[in-house]
Amino acid sequence: MNYIVLDMEWNQPWPGSPSARKVLPVQIRGEIIQIGAVRITETQQVADEFQVLIKPKYYRRLNRRVSKLTGIKEAQLREEGVPMTEAMEKFRAWCGEDITFLTWGFDDITILRENLRLYGMDEDWVSRWYNAQMIFNAQTDGSSSQKALKTAMELFNIEATRPAHDALGDAYHTALICARLDLKKGTQEYGEALKSHVNGFHGAELPGCISRKVFYDYSDKHAALGAMTGEENICPVCSRQMLGSRWFAQPGHRYMDLATCPEHGKFLIRVRLSNQPDGKVRVSRLIYEATSEAAAAYARRVEKADPQEQRPLQHRRRRSRLPEKKD
Ligand SMILES: [Zn+2]
Repeated sequence: MNYIVLDMEWNQPWPGSPSARKVLPVQIRGEIIQIGAVRITETQQVADEFQVLIKPKYYRRLNRRVSKLTGIKEAQLREEGVPMTEAMEKFRAWCGEDITFLTWGFDDITILRENLRLYGMDEDWVSRWYNAQMIFNAQTDGSSSQKALKTAMELFNIEATRPAHDALGDAYHTALICARLDLKKGTQEYGEALKSHVNGFHGAELPGCISRKVFYDYSDKHAALGAMTGEENICPVCSRQMLGSRWFAQPGHRYMDLATCPEHGKFLIRVRLSNQPDGKVRVSRLIYEATSEAAAAYARRVEKADPQEQRPLQHRRRRSRLPEKKD
């Protein structure tokens, strides 16, 4: 068995451009323009490398942001790029049999599968894959935050020797990180790491956190937040019903509220909402001591709040929906 560390660059149509209005037979988040891959042997030796440029078929105009980030030019893709089907055949042949993919993040394999589907190509061979970020987190600080590759390299004292935002460069640096992890253990314990991530405990909790819990199956955001201020809002010390004040929205479908137990005083409640695969809403809740830094941040937030936000949630019912989970 070999590990294949994969990194790709993809092109997206410029918003509002004719390409952006194109209806493709299979919806894709991006059209792959570059694949970089590095093999790691079962004994975790960094081995050979693969790289290919792909000539885009659907989004032929290269998004200038993509071009700027990757350094890839449209003319270069026209001259050096090979058609997707040819690139995939080459890549698959290079990978060989009995492979496990490792990627930095959740996007690459999803986009690879979408692109394979778009071309009517077999996608079963890329089905065994792991997000190396999750393994890295589980074997380092235990957090479930999504770290930039650069951050992970710094943590392992790995010096960048290849260009960033180049598929092969990123794959190579990812491979250096992966080679230092216990990949066998990491892939075996991946289910647990993933669960912690899916449950939304992104980022190590701040000091002063005294409880973390996940709640499932709310019909919508209002039902979820209602339960958090209502029946689930119980004191972490004595389990008596607490009183909430009001939710303050934070980026990333997060909300915070200061709740009060008649006996034990105030607690900061932080929740993050996310969509379950069945469309229902899941809540990840952290409770902090009121003396914590997180609670102080809440107090500052309340002071800065404008009167619009001060109105209770039920009076500003908007038809906002949680977007699809992107990672
Ligand atoms: Zn209490």
